Amino acid sequence: MIRYRLRCAEGHAFDHWFDNAAACDAELEARAVACPECSGTAVAKAIMAPSVAKAAQPQTPCGKPVCACGCPALE
Ligand SMILES: [Zn+2]
Repeated sequence: MIRYRLRCAEGHAFDHWFDNAAACDAELEARAVACPECSGTAVAKAIMAPSVAKAAQPQTPCGKPVCACGCPALE
C-alpha cells in the first residue's frame, strides 16, 4: 500500500491509499477517486513542496551554512 497526498480541482488536499504507484495513476486516470469534501473526481497528486530548510539557514560571514570557524574575528 502506498499513500499519496491528492488535490482536487477545488484545491482540497487529502490523503488516499493505493495498492501501488501504478494503481494510483490508473485510478486517477479513471477518476475513481473522489474528493471527500466536494466529491469532485478531477483529482491529481499534489506536488510536495521542496524543503525550505535551505533558504532558512542563517547566513554567516564566511558563507558556510553553519559557521564554527570563528570567521567574524578573521575579517
Ligand atoms: Zn474537493
